[in-house]
Amino acid sequence: MVKCSLCQDKAIVKIPYAGLRLCKEHFTKYIEDRVRKTIKRYNLISSGMRVLVAVSGGKDSSTMLVILNKLSKELKFTLYAMHIDLGIGNYSVYSRRTVEKLSQSLNIPLIILEVKKILGYGIPEIASKAKRPACSVCGVIKRYLINATALELGADVVAMGHNLDDIITYAFKEFMNQNLNALAKLGPSTKSIKDLAVSRIRPLYEIYERESLLYALINNITFVKDECPMAREDSLDRIIKVKYFEIEERYPGIKLAFVRRFAKNIQYYQGTEPEFKKCKTCGLLSSWDICSYCRLSFKILGKYMGHDTRNYIRELLKNILIRT
Ligand code: SF4
Ligand code: ZN
Ligand code: ZN
Repeated sequence: MVKCSLCQDKAIVKIPYAGLRLCKEHFTKYIEDRVRKTIKRYNLISSGMRVLVAVSGGKDSSTMLVILNKLSKELKFTLYAMHIDLGIGNYSVYSRRTVEKLSQSLNIPLIILEVKKILGYGIPEIASKAKRPACSVCGVIKRYLINATALELGADVVAMGHNLDDIITYAFKEFMNQNLNALAKLGPSTKSIKDLAVSRIRPLYEIYERESLLYALINNITFVKDECPMAREDSLDRIIKVKYFEIEERYPGIKLAFVRRFAKNIQYYQGTEPEFKKCKTCGLLSSWDICSYCRLSFKILGKYMGHDTRNYIRELLKNILIRT
């Protein structure tokens, strides 16, 4: 039996970059300590904050919700969870049920937004009406709904479940495109802009994908194991992830060193960001006169939906906040 580096119990995982083998209990503590350190190192959350957690039901956001819930007492912040029902058949039905179950078990108030109720269609229909890839319209809608909900809720930050491997993948892709503006948004947090955008934070910034998966499995966290049916098998993201996995196998810790250096240098990329604007129809953050969400909704419905969407969220939150 291979023993844990910190006690006499059986090791269940080897962490090559840290030179450790850990048992179930010490691995759980190790991950929670690293999330706590990430929060402190990058000043992601301070005492008294209202934190909105975006939960898809996948392993990362579910793991993040559980860990933040544990840390919320110690670091004294309040948690709200939100989930977007994307209207993607059984995948969405199951994801929603999973998130409902998890937030209920943790006693965290949950806000559910249904894309079908807001825009009349689910993601697959919206993609085909807009003649755009599903993930592209899905990204625009999710970003908008998360930011609008955070603003209406008065949240100080929105916690996103992006892990270290996600960050490397996005960063590499954007670097290849020389999209410095997009790179500027890949740090451990983005900035809040009063009345326009709420800061997004990434508490799993230094947690490897396999660590987040193992944490969920050994702590019996229910999460959606199936992938979204709209995800493409041959996507560039997937190829980059596999390649970086091979590099990490050969050079343990190289990915962790990268995200730390990247976070340190993020200010240089941030200097390249264009001036932000306010969407003329809904009043939220935009890079153009009309934001991507309003333009997308106009394309499929002939109407800019940002304003109505914000009202819808406002009404929804009234009921939820009365109950909490
Ligand atoms: Fe949305 Fe694409 Fe992710 Fe599915 S795979 S949830 S469509 S971004
Ligand atoms: Zn141990
Ligand atoms: Zn708009």
